[in-house]
Amino acid sequence: MAEKSVLFAGDVRLPAIGQGTWYMGEKNSQRQKEVDALRAGIDAGLGLIDTAEMYADGGAEEVVGEALRGGLRDKVYLVSKVYPWNAGGKKAIAACEASLRRLHTDYLDLYLLHWRGNYSLAETVEVMETLISQGKIRRWGVSNLDYSDMQELWQLQGGKACVTDQVLYHLGSRGIEYDLLPWCQQQKMPVMAYCPLAQAGRLRDGLMQHREVLDIADAHNATAAQILLAWVISHSGVMAIPKAATVAHAQENAAALEITLSVEELALLDSAFPAPGRKTPLDVV
Ligand code: NDP
Repeated sequence: MAEKSVLFAGDVRLPAIGQGTWYMGEKNSQRQKEVDALRAGIDAGLGLIDTAEMYADGGAEEVVGEALRGGLRDKVYLVSKVYPWNAGGKKAIAACEASLRRLHTDYLDLYLLHWRGNYSLAETVEVMETLISQGKIRRWGVSNLDYSDMQELWQLQGGKACVTDQVLYHLGSRGIEYDLLPWCQQQKMPVMAYCPLAQAGRLRDGLMQHREVLDIADAHNATAAQILLAWVISHSGVMAIPKAATVAHAQENAAALEITLSVEELALLDSAFPAPGRKTPLDVV
């Protein structure tokens, strides 16, 4: 069966599941386990890694840097994020350089504004262009921007060079389907779904134990987590970035690339977890 993939910036095709890193790098005792999980994920085909200067105060970037040692850097599409209060002028250059040092690399494939804040979007676009011209990043994007923010970005000079919007999206939180997701699909701009497992169900009680999800999992000889991922990536132009800190979870998540939910299964999940029929505030964690 063909693996699902997503086209980034019109030129890079990536498997529709990548790897998140939030909470990695917080405890030294877990470090090797996290490095092993990321490497197992890369080995199994999860070729995008998402991190941020925020995670463990740079500790997650250090774990990623360690995981990529020994020739793996070129196999990975590397994404990091800048804090809103660093997302303009010299601060952004310094923040990006610090991320590069921690990641032991000289460029990021993609640099995201983590959420909207202190600097105007115009100032952020300008500094992203500077970082590209300096060769420190290849592309830039945003995160946690809602439909109206994206309209504003699209009006700015250079705004349409944005490659993705990374937002919360899982079976139990479908607000983006009202306006943001269809608009991104129209622009052919991929959406990166964070918390695709609803943080192992912590964000939506009972999601991983729901009857419908478990029945469909049984039918595919799969786990509930795999069905949640297969559901996210069944949407055109959507990539999921689950975080796995064990080799077993990373491999399981990679195997979800092979699961295709039938029209009937999608309809069952739709009626168990309907998308809101009106505008709702963008869900965030
Ligand atoms: P996820 O929905 O990815 O859930 C992570 C949890 O699921 C962990 O407890 C993990 O356990 C568990 N898990 C992973 N794989 C499996 C599996 N196959 N079966 C059962 N449990 C599993 O939540 P995150 O918050 O981590 O979101 C994913 C990523 O998105 C983040 O790591 C980060 O990179 C990004 N993110 C971005 C945000 C933004 O503002 N832009 C906000 C939040 C997240 P274990 O670790 O033990 O494997």
